[in-house]
Parts: sequence; C-alpha cells; structure tokens
Amino acid sequence: MLEAARISCPYCGEEFEISVDCSMGGQQYIEDCSVCCQPIDISSEVDIEGNLLGISARRNDE
Ligand SMILES: [Zn+2]
Repeated sequence: MLEAARISCPYCGEEFEISVDCSMGGQQYIEDCSVCCQPIDISSEVDIEGNLLGISARRNDE
C-alpha cells in the first residue's frame, strides 16, 4: 500500500513527491531531499484502514 504524497523540503523549499508505505501505520523516518540532499524528518499519519491522513516534513536538526 504505497501512497504518493507531496512535501516541501524544510531546507530548500523545493516540492517533491515521495512514496509512503501505509501498510505499517504511521511512521517516522528520514528521507534525503532529492534536490539539496539534506536529511528530512518525515512523519506520516495513517488511519486503521491504511489511508494516509497527513504527512509532515521537518528539519532533522531542530
Ligand atoms: Zn531540499
């Protein structure tokens, strides 16, 4: 259950699309920005049926 989500990089502001695995519930993980290669702290919120409710992208150094 992969869903595509758009996020904005908190470092360079560039928008890009990521794939979120909804089969394991909400997750928090690090994904490198495809533009500036900085580590983005991503947290996904998934409901009990595996639907993506929301996603947030934060800097990893805050
Ligand atoms: Zn970036």
